[in-house]
Amino acid sequence: MNQTQRPLEVACPECSKKVVWSEKNPDRPFCSERCRLLDLGAWADGNRRIAGEPAMDETEIDEMIMRAERGLQDSE
Ligand SMILES: [Zn+2]
Repeated sequence: MNQTQRPLEVACPECSKKVVWSEKNPDRPFCSERCRLLDLGAWADGNRRIAGEPAMDETEIDEMIMRAERGLQDSE
């Protein structure tokens, strides 16, 4: 029954490095705190769509662009 002693390894979602899944690694499934924070940062930057968050309406974007263009014209 040596199989139970084999450490479980997972790939870090950030850098794909092999990580030993153990209670001693508080950053699992990430290899390090750095990768864990990088992944959180990617979410915060909006690089990844957060489930349940409504996407911006296209008409809203058009209005924003129109307002921005008007603002630029006014300042000239
Ligand atoms: Zn990593």
